[in-house]
Amino acid sequence: MMVQKKTRGQLIVLSGPSGVGKSTVISELLGQRQDIYFSVSFTTRQPRMGEADGVNYNFVDRAEFERMIAAGELLEHAEYVGNYYGTSLKVIQEKLDAGIDVLLDIEVQGAAKVRAKCPEAVLIFIIPPSFEELSRRLRGRNTDSEETIAGRLQKAREEYQQIPNYDYLVVNDKVSAAAAEIIAILLAEDCRTRNRLHLVEGI
Ligand code: 5GP
Repeated sequence: MMVQKKTRGQLIVLSGPSGVGKSTVISELLGQRQDIYFSVSFTTRQPRMGEADGVNYNFVDRAEFERMIAAGELLEHAEYVGNYYGTSLKVIQEKLDAGIDVLLDIEVQGAAKVRAKCPEAVLIFIIPPSFEELSRRLRGRNTDSEETIAGRLQKAREEYQQIPNYDYLVVNDKVSAAAAEIIAILLAEDCRTRNRLHLVEGI
């Protein structure tokens, strides 16, 4: 079926605890849905090995981040484990106005702010098959101390409290299945009446 292009892009928010495999799911999703724009956030945290400025994040110092907050340049921002993270308002607006879907990988406080400012955004939370599996995945990285892992698990418990505020819950048991669930969600969102009213205008 040939459907006329939608007038506005869909804002998609993805959250999930550290260790759930969110970045892998996002890579799989973006590989299959190359029309989705991934929003590169601003952060004050230090780049990790292999991360590049402008690709994984825009790395800035606290003074610059605070300037951006004061200037109203961020759609949302949050402090997470001692660092600032935020989403550029201008870039998001331009893409959505151009009818392009935009994906945000943000934590739960930021997601709540997006929900308040953009009620039509679709909020998706990714969980592992079980909490024990999350613990196994965090230990499997072999990079963090037991204390760090315990901290991440506690943070995950807190983040789970916010799950009822999300529209969809995706289980990352297998990456391809999790990406397929997200693609199905986005297709359903595209079919929402409010997103298709332009098809019946003027009749
Ligand atoms: P990491 O430091 O591991 O890359 O990210 C830590 C957390 O910050 C993740 O949960 C990630 O989703 C979140 N995050 C990344 N960018 C943003 C952002 O722009 N805003 C908010 N609120 N959270 C973000």
